[in-house]
Amino acid sequence: MRTRDGAQNGAERSTHAALGIDVGGTKVALRAESAAGHVEEASFAWGPSLGVDRDLARLAACVGELTVRTGAPFRAVGVAMPATVGPDERVTAWPSRPEWTGLELGRALRGLFPAAAVAWADDGDLAALAEAEAAHCDDLLYLGVGTGVGGGLVLGGRLCPGAGRGSFELGHLVLELDGPTCVCGRRGCLQATASGPATLARAAGLRGAPVTFDDLRAGLRERRPWAVTALDRTGYALAAAATGVAELLHPRLALIGGGFAAGIPELVDRVAEHLTALARPGLPALPVAPARLGGLSSLRGAVLLARGR
Ligand SMILES: [Zn+2]
Repeated sequence: MRTRDGAQNGAERSTHAALGIDVGGTKVALRAESAAGHVEEASFAWGPSLGVDRDLARLAACVGELTVRTGAPFRAVGVAMPATVGPDERVTAWPSRPEWTGLELGRALRGLFPAAAVAWADDGDLAALAEAEAAHCDDLLYLGVGTGVGGGLVLGGRLCPGAGRGSFELGHLVLELDGPTCVCGRRGCLQATASGPATLARAAGLRGAPVTFDDLRAGLRERRPWAVTALDRTGYALAAAATGVAELLHPRLALIGGGFAAGIPELVDRVAEHLTALARPGLPALPVAPARLGGLSSLRGAVLLARGR
């Protein structure tokens, strides 16, 4: 277990109030923050799943160690989840850990933290919340481009659509009638065109040979037409989705993050160019910039969610 402990003394250790947990497909990260700003962190890799009960036991063990180090039980817990969770609090889909399908998530989390107020939200939503705070922008659209396309929208400093009303599923916004098939089974979703794997597949089709992430990066540096064209389509799709959101809900800024985008700095410029081209006469284009928090955004958002409880 990797840990970070900046404790100065016992009195400070006892003031911990909020715990954030970012439950990823391959690893779990935890961050405890006291009102005084003292921080403790821990993380562990899942490894192959031996079933949801074993997974939850590993999480409980890590939480137990962190609780000992902080010196007090957590009063508020926020959890960032990549899984789709239904209104009945059951996990309906999680491709990375299908063993969790059917889990009563609320009951499981309340069982882990019987003395705390527990809340959970989509990891893209919580990334948006943290990025909005870091950017000092209360009306922000966040687009996370990785294995899929995640996202979140903050309006007036609060998540949209808000607790208990589902997550902001930007990746499944239908952009292209009769477009490529999405992992959800529908055709034309944003992420079927603009995810990392979709971009690499399009580049491979244009090149006539397989394209890895590093191949794409090199191709962009060398201005290879197959690389430039493949990425431009991704930028166009992201800009079209952001423009649609802007027409409806008027965020003041879009930020682009996610693992794929972090390794392809050209992407933000491509999106900006298409946002400008898509702007209607007399209306300014939505400004776009790189996200600031990198892979930490969902974890920081989980802490903010805990603080909001
Ligand atoms: Zn879809």
